Amino acid sequence: MTDVLIAGAGPTGLTAGCVLARRGLSVRIVRKHRPFTGHSRASVIWPRALHVMESIGAVDPLVAIGSRVTKVGYYSSGESIGRFELGRLRNTRFTFALGVSQHETEAVLESVFRAAGGEIADAEIVGLEQDDRQVTARLVELGRETRWSGRWLVGADGANSTVRDLLGITMDDVGPGVSFRIADAVVGGLPEDEASYCWTPGGGMAIGPHDRRAYRLAYRLTPDAPDASPDSFQRLLDARGPKRSRGVVRELVSTADFQARFAVARNFSAGRCHLAGDSAHVMAPAGGQGMNSGILDADALARRMVESRRNGASENRLAGYGAERRDAIGKIMATAVEHARDGGLRSDSDIAARDRRYRGMWNDSALHRDRMARLSQLDVDPIRTEGAITA
Ligand SMILES: Cc1cc2nc3c(=O)[nH]c(=O)nc-3n(C[C@H](O)[C@H](O)[C@H](O)COP(=O)(O)OP(=O)(O)OC[C@H]3O[C@@H](n4cnc5c(N)ncnc54)[C@H](O)[C@@H]3O)c2cc1C
Repeated sequence: MTDVLIAGAGPTGLTAGCVLARRGLSVRIVRKHRPFTGHSRASVIWPRALHVMESIGAVDPLVAIGSRVTKVGYYSSGESIGRFELGRLRNTRFTFALGVSQHETEAVLESVFRAAGGEIADAEIVGLEQDDRQVTARLVELGRETRWSGRWLVGADGANSTVRDLLGITMDDVGPGVSFRIADAVVGGLPEDEASYCWTPGGGMAIGPHDRRAYRLAYRLTPDAPDASPDSFQRLLDARGPKRSRGVVRELVSTADFQARFAVARNFSAGRCHLAGDSAHVMAPAGGQGMNSGILDADALARRMVESRRNGASENRLAGYGAERRDAIGKIMATAVEHARDGGLRSDSDIAARDRRYRGMWNDSALHRDRMARLSQLDVDPIRTEGAITA
């Protein structure tokens, strides 16, 4: 019997596949869509997820193509209110985040997975049943219905997860939804090693190195927003960006408008089926935590499966996955919701209080480090050694 079927070949499914295949479990990934290049989603891998990438042999190829982000700057009406350094982090050799587009991250993970003997098929999961011995999935592959049976199923099939629906698991909203516009743009004049959040009473803009060529620019979409064009992004950058370094938009590589939600699945597990990544939780991209959280879910779940397979540990060990990750996701969401709220403040008194708070964090070494540990997800998920399971 195959050990694991993974529905989804995004960063979550591929990371789980790499951990499992490299440790000798038989694993098959099915994906509904082939990845499309040209338009990217996540653009930063934080230090905690870089540790996972290192554990599966993916960090060197990623570092070779990504750009190192060593600082996170916060600006209020163009003036600096904090410049937080990843170099202050303790207990990690990754004192940088990596700016790399999601489709490149997926390409690296796919080649690591295939090199470890993993198999990927273009197939859609459309049904499942399970008992205490096995789970059976119904798949549609090249227009034909097939069946797969194995020990466990991972639902890493994204925000509109079929696996989640088939298991009857619902999502709870934990914060207000927001609309965003993003662009990957070639911009001159910006620092290569800093991601920044630029807040003004008229709205904000997030700026970050996206890969070695382009920057990610993002802002909250309002009904009166102009069409996406180099000129409109330039005007917003001039109005909202850091005063000390004027960015010049040279080219828009791609743009996208989308609705983001903050929501968490009621359960991450049902019997032999487990949810991970966007199928278990979705969050707005401010703070860049969505993909990173999925990578850490994948690592936590796959390690529990490896341990269960090797040591015959009871299924309860695996069931602990949901509690562990729901707790971590609750904290990550709280940071992401707080971040979105900080960027949306409009009254003078709220803005003055926020700016004082950020300056205070910046100048206090413990708070400074704590801020970076939260963004890096090092605070919610201790770095694991081989075989280590937390609960
Ligand atoms: C515009 C945009 C910008 C973003 N920016 C950021 C950012 O800056 N930082 C960040 O961390 N996150 C960001 N995110 C979020 C990030 O992209 C997601 O968190 C991440 O893609 C989740 O990965 P995943 O593998 O869980 O799911 P996905 O990447 O959605 O992958 C789902 C996979 O499941 C497959 N699938 C779907 N249904 C089925 C089925 N029935 N059967 C089989 N396979 C199926 C799909 O083909 C795909 O392979 C952004 C998202 C968007 C939309």
